[in-house]
Amino acid sequence: MKPLIEVKNVRKIYRMGDEKEVALDDISLSIYKGEIVCLVGASGSGKSTFLNMVAGLEKPTRGEIYIGGIPIHKLDEEKVTLFRQKNIGFIFQAFHLLPMLTAVENVGLPLIFRGVESKKRNMLAMKMLKEVGLSGYENRKPNQMSGGQQQRVGIARALVGNPKIIFADEPTGNLDSSTSVEVMEIMVKKVRENNQTLLLVTHDPTISEYADRVVTIKDGNILNIEENKRG
Ligand code: ADP
Ligand code: MG
Repeated sequence: MKPLIEVKNVRKIYRMGDEKEVALDDISLSIYKGEIVCLVGASGSGKSTFLNMVAGLEKPTRGEIYIGGIPIHKLDEEKVTLFRQKNIGFIFQAFHLLPMLTAVENVGLPLIFRGVESKKRNMLAMKMLKEVGLSGYENRKPNQMSGGQQQRVGIARALVGNPKIIFADEPTGNLDSSTSVEVMEIMVKKVRENNQTLLLVTHDPTISEYADRVVTIKDGNILNIEENKRG
């Protein structure tokens, strides 16, 4: 089986004046459809850089990244943005919900970019909110919800367009441990149901238990890959 995501010898150097920072040294990794892969490693090891690179938010200094055979590293800004809107959902540590919008409006946001009209958007967003256990919260603004509820809105927003791939950078980083488990359970359940592929960054060892593979990154290189048995 061909991998869905293929990262080949990716290197990323940030230059700041005379200084340079090797954020990623030489990383190669293949991820298959339906896999949940977790990246772990100390702060500053390159996890977010790796995620941003695969999502096409930044260009590697060297190396290649393919998603479904498409060379992400070669796409221009416009093409890569379209690719992301169509194929990728994001979940952020700090939720990144728009404060002026209600839950249902936040969840419907990615569908605007896909040209879905407002009635259908609303319907799909309501359905998604129900699926993450937020029926009755549709008209709340972010500051009227707990952290766990806000992150469930974040998950609903990431999943509403049924993307092939979901990226999550420390999605439970702002949550207490029992809320983290709740949020992970919902996220993993939805991802498994839809046979989606999840690439997840976390510090938390209990979170990495949800993954099929745990990739440890150190100083911009892969230190170790561990397989978890499913179920
Ligand atoms: P992690 O997510 O594992 O904590 P990052 O990927 O954010 O690590 O960072 C990896 C390294 O790259 C760090 O040393 C960080 O300071 C550096 N870095 C990240 N982004 C930038 C940037 N935009 N400019 C300069 N250096 C950066
Ligand atoms: Mg990070």
